[in-house]
Amino acid sequence: MPKPAGEEKQQKAFGWAATDESGTLSPFHFSRRENGDEDVTLKILYCGVCHSDLHNLTNEWGFTSYPVVPGHEIVGVTTKVGKNVTKFKVGDGVGVGVMVGSCKTCECCQQDLENYCSQIIFTYNSHNPDGTKNYGGYSDMIVVDQRYVLRFPDSLPLDAGAPLLCAGITVYSPMKYYGMTEAGKHLGVAGLGGLGHVAVKIAKAFGLKVTVISTSPQKESEAINRLGADAFLASSDTAKMKSAIGSMDYIIDTVSAVHPLFPLLSLLKVNGKLVTLGLPNKPLELPVFPLVSGRKLVGGSDFGGMKETQEMLDFCAKHNIAADIELIRIDEINSAMERLARSDVRYRFVIDVANSLSAVG
Ligand code: NAP
Ligand code: ZN
Repeated sequence: MPKPAGEEKQQKAFGWAATDESGTLSPFHFSRRENGDEDVTLKILYCGVCHSDLHNLTNEWGFTSYPVVPGHEIVGVTTKVGKNVTKFKVGDGVGVGVMVGSCKTCECCQQDLENYCSQIIFTYNSHNPDGTKNYGGYSDMIVVDQRYVLRFPDSLPLDAGAPLLCAGITVYSPMKYYGMTEAGKHLGVAGLGGLGHVAVKIAKAFGLKVTVISTSPQKESEAINRLGADAFLASSDTAKMKSAIGSMDYIIDTVSAVHPLFPLLSLLKVNGKLVTLGLPNKPLELPVFPLVSGRKLVGGSDFGGMKETQEMLDFCAKHNIAADIELIRIDEINSAMERLARSDVRYRFVIDVANSLSAVG
């Protein structure tokens, strides 16, 4: 039986937290549980900055419990392993993504779909069954049950690999589940941010033809020359959008704000599939005419289960896929968040946690 909150031995931790809906982050001291028999403790080296962190910080979804320490693209090195831990030893390079717990017994958990467990415990802005609160990776260390810790492939860069733990798996999982990996098929990627740019790279590794659909025409040359996309469609260019109608087999929609689906559905061929991954705070409108007339499908997808996340990391290592990042110090995080809100990031901020956190603490 777990002891009541507060009775467990605690470890001191330090990170940056927001304490109200302004979302402004500042230094924050807190505690984490002592390393249990099933647990792994990580010294955090790098943490990616996901747009979900921003949605959470500003309580856009309406369920933020302050103070909140964000961060669910965590790469670190193990400093303690519990006596039942078989998968890891001290000194291993490991990753932690969007979740740190689930019930382990339901149908989803048994099918390696822990991310859809109704008892899921998110990495931050969540509570454990004993009532203690979870804090994310904008911090010096974290304690996680071994089941939710990933082996980080040696050949992946620790900093640029960190975003794979959310952005990577969130685009990889629907591509696999919805059958969007057939070489030669045409994929549209809507929104060229953290998720979108990794989607381009993973899709190219599957051999797809990739077109970026973007509100930022200035991203065109990077999309093609740096990220490897085959084509670029500025959504404001009505002539080009019109000429692309009915040309795509699938679209992955990573847009973080409310936006019209009609133009995207129109780009799909008959039997085309649109998977929405973005989590705007208001519902999107679903126009049924282009759906019905083309037997098209609209689906959603969360990140992925632990097994698939490991598979994705190994796939990215094999294909030399990592994020394009801007490495920042923790004390640059508030201005980075302002830039993220303006879609001004190439293409993921990653916090150099180990080299900047203690310096400002
Ligand atoms: P991001 O880096 O900010 O990228 C989002 C992109 O969407 C922007 O770069 C921009 O691309 C486009 N965009 C932004 N505002 C727009 C608007 N008003 N109209 C049209 N396009 C707009 O964000 P991210 O980290 O990739 O996350 C994207 C979304 O996915 C967020 O809502 C996040 O919470 C969600 N998410 C979901 C999951 C999941 O499990 N399903 C996991 C992670 C993240 P262009 O400049 O190219 O237009
Ligand atoms: Zn995320």
